Amino acid sequence: MTQFKSVLERCGFKTAEFTEGSLTVRSPIDGSILAQLQETPVDSMQAVINRSHAAFLTWRMVPAPVRGELVRLWGEELRAAKQDIGHIVSMEVGKIVEEGLGEVQEGVDICEFALGLSRQLHGKTIASERPGHRIMEQFHPLGPVAVITAFNFPSAVFAWNAALALVCGDPVIFKPSEKAPLSGLATFKALERAIAKFGDRAPEGLAQIVVGLTPLAEALVESPKIPLVSATGSTRMGRIVGPKVASRFGKRILELGGNNAMIVTPAADLDMAVRAVLFGAVGTAGQRCTSLRRVIVHRSVKDALLERVQKAYGNLRIGNPLTPGNLVGPLIDEGAFTAMQKSLETAQAEGGKLLRGGKRVLEKEYPKGFFVEPAIVDMPSQTAIVKHETFAPLLYVLTYDDLEEAIELNNDVPQGLSSCIFSTNMQEVELFISQAGSDCGMANVNIGPNGAEIGGAFGGEKETGGDRESGSDAWKQYMRRTTNTINFSKELPLAQGINFG
Ligand code: NAD
Repeated sequence: MTQFKSVLERCGFKTAEFTEGSLTVRSPIDGSILAQLQETPVDSMQAVINRSHAAFLTWRMVPAPVRGELVRLWGEELRAAKQDIGHIVSMEVGKIVEEGLGEVQEGVDICEFALGLSRQLHGKTIASERPGHRIMEQFHPLGPVAVITAFNFPSAVFAWNAALALVCGDPVIFKPSEKAPLSGLATFKALERAIAKFGDRAPEGLAQIVVGLTPLAEALVESPKIPLVSATGSTRMGRIVGPKVASRFGKRILELGGNNAMIVTPAADLDMAVRAVLFGAVGTAGQRCTSLRRVIVHRSVKDALLERVQKAYGNLRIGNPLTPGNLVGPLIDEGAFTAMQKSLETAQAEGGKLLRGGKRVLEKEYPKGFFVEPAIVDMPSQTAIVKHETFAPLLYVLTYDDLEEAIELNNDVPQGLSSCIFSTNMQEVELFISQAGSDCGMANVNIGPNGAEIGGAFGGEKETGGDRESGSDAWKQYMRRTTNTINFSKELPLAQGINFG
């Protein structure tokens, strides 16, 4: 614990900040208390929002490439603090060290992306049908952006949103998950250091963090002064947040649950598929929104694939995520363990055959840590439980005969985040990524459904929310578009040839 204290101090925490508050943060590894954080009072939220709005009026006038300089500095701070923030992520959510570090690297990457973007917030010039006229579009800053995050990416999701929002001219208010506020705070402190270096070009209140429970997020969701709410979490949360934001005509980015599948065809490289199954289904103990939940395998290769997958599962090292060599850390809490057990029971009641795993392990060593053996269940069909996202290392196996049938199974779930096919057959691959193929926001070929890069737009369809964040042109959601028609003639012709008197 003394060592962890010094990690927090290196990340800029003052002792009182992590010892004197009412919000207890525990490690899922052993249940030990990592911090007692001070909670933001709910009745201070209006002041937080007002500060953000005031900051917007100044920040929107700072040229975008200058705003880019701020995210460049933030990227440098994240790079310098990568080991420490990665360590906090591992301690707070139980990711193995490599994955904790990878998460901070995503923050560095998005800062670099946003720096380049700060000189490319382009609109189009469009031909007008009227003589002596020109049409163009401009993208202007939008206003304060609320970033509400899930426990499982406690650092990167804030960075994805904030780096884009800041270069787009928007202040940010960050509400981290109450299950993982420390990693969020450490990431936020790196931004504060960057802001200090950036100096007085950054207005007060440009970036704020609020720590506590759901009512803080509700205040952001309901405020008409927050034009964009970016919320990452469960579909349950999205069903509440989406309509509330819509009812006040706000914009939203919803990044919700996934139920991601892999199709393995007779033309697959099985060795590659096995490695992808392993990282996809058991990496982060199955607690990624893009974790592999369903393998849809052709009958002719099913036995060969399952034999290899089961062998690989047999060699998995489950244990303390900080110990090198361990690949599977704990579930986030007892609730996650209970949910996994219930899903396993239901799957078997629905005709599934448990091939392996599902049991709690290391209970003696870690009585308060919920470590589980990753489970594989062979299902006779895609029953109700298979269509439900269980946020744990639980992999369902489904069997198919025709590729069209496999694609139908891939699509026949309420969620639409990520998907993939393993095949070396060009026709199979092209069909899978075509308009008649996977209906997910991400459809990969010969790589698993998880572990996306920041350069592409990230997000999914249907109950996953329908929005995109991170790369490509996701930045447009953080800005408002104006269309300008400019008349440089001495006439006033109307469009569509209308003659008005
Ligand atoms: P969660 O929905 O319990 O909480 C997420 C956040 O929403 C928290 O900050 C929480 O305080 C807030 N929240 C909860 N109820 C709210 C309400 N009524 N109003 C406003 N805010 C509210 O999710 P979790 O358990 O932390 O995360 C796991 C879920 O997140 C999984 O379903 C996973 O698939 C999903 N997820 C999705 C993505 C994606 O990009 N699609 C990424 C990461 C996680």
